[in-house]
Amino acid sequence: MNKLDTALVTSALEDAGFGFTDNVKQADVVLINTCSVRQHAEQRVLSQLGHLKHIKESRPDLVVGVIGCMAQRLGDKLLEHEVVNFVCGPTEIPQIKQLITKTLKEKKKSLAVTEKIRRKPSEQQSQALEEFESAYGIKDESIPAQAFVRVMRGCNNFCSYCVVPYVRGPEVSRRPEAIIEQIRKLADHGVKQVTLLGQTVNSYKYKKGEKTWSLADLLEAATDVEGIEWLRFVTSYPSEEFFDDIMQVMAGSPKVCEYLHMPAQSGSDKILLAMNRNYTAAGYLELLDRARAIVTGITIAGDFIVGFPGETEEDFQATVDLAEKARYKNAFIFKYSPRPGTTADKRLQDTVSAEVKQRRNVELLAVQEKISDELSRDLLGKQVQVLVEGLSKKSHVNIDRDENPQLIGRTSGDWIVVFNGPESSAGKFSQVTIESASPLTLFGRLAEL
Ligand code: SF4
Repeated sequence: MNKLDTALVTSALEDAGFGFTDNVKQADVVLINTCSVRQHAEQRVLSQLGHLKHIKESRPDLVVGVIGCMAQRLGDKLLEHEVVNFVCGPTEIPQIKQLITKTLKEKKKSLAVTEKIRRKPSEQQSQALEEFESAYGIKDESIPAQAFVRVMRGCNNFCSYCVVPYVRGPEVSRRPEAIIEQIRKLADHGVKQVTLLGQTVNSYKYKKGEKTWSLADLLEAATDVEGIEWLRFVTSYPSEEFFDDIMQVMAGSPKVCEYLHMPAQSGSDKILLAMNRNYTAAGYLELLDRARAIVTGITIAGDFIVGFPGETEEDFQATVDLAEKARYKNAFIFKYSPRPGTTADKRLQDTVSAEVKQRRNVELLAVQEKISDELSRDLLGKQVQVLVEGLSKKSHVNIDRDENPQLIGRTSGDWIVVFNGPESSAGKFSQVTIESASPLTLFGRLAEL
């Protein structure tokens, strides 16, 4: 979501005639797009602001804007920071150009956050967001031939640890026509892969006349867009609703990537209940079985939070058990950190010590690494299709005999593949034979065609 917001803001500012620099010392305006999901992310923003303070001492005219979830969460408290000129929450992002130009001219502090964030957005606010999204959602070129398209905003789930519903507002699905039109424009600009985004993307729902559009309908309509070769969607909430329909569309269309990211968060029913996640561990695993039965070869990724308040060794063991049964391609594992304003923070004591959280994190990572390693080895010797993203981090070190640098690409199942090839392959599909594997990365060579 944040990457998409950054891309939209970048396009809007480019359109308004702003230029960009990687060197903060040359900038007239610095924008920090922020995340509030974990404490660590917010701490990093505060240390960035500390760094900017030194620069601002010699250049007092430098404008600093903080945008995103932390801006909405802290509002005027953040504006009090001596370095910050304006604060703009995610639902106020259409005002970004005006905020910058006004601050450059008037040098006054300004606050743009949504006061009653849990209220359904007004007609005017929705229209502004929609227009902003449609106008600037076609220029993101950060990864060649790939783009994100938001299909819904906000969330209504209120998982007890999560700040998202309080900073991004209630769940609102975008009109299917607007989404498909945006995908069409992206395809006209050479985009081959679109990732549909939503906090709980599989709960996308739009009532139009007699018909209620689901994510399955959206995916199906998007597969008809000429030029679009691959479609992905993140993140899925473990829910029965539309689940089989979505899996059927995946199984039926080579354009829908065989990949599901569906966080479990815990394997203990007691902890899942305390997290206000509306499923049990058995129910969750049943969904994975169904996904695998409908889409042969699907790869699945998950998320876990370890050290949630009240998590005992037994609860943690249940999480390890679930990870072993789920057999994820990879899992993102986080140590619980209380987020101010959430139910868990208000009602539950952060009982698990930092050392225990760390130990459980390491233990679960080791379990997952073993599974990832086994699954990646299954691909040894096989030929896979990848969409090439560009140069790998070590492109300059590992040049092959033909002087080709090292590239990075992803398979339909989201495996990362590193291989040598011409840089001009970025944004194109390549066939790669896998020669070696590590838990998270496959290494190969361009297949002879
Ligand atoms: S589903 Fe839960 S974890 Fe995901 S954004 Fe909504 S409240 Fe947060």
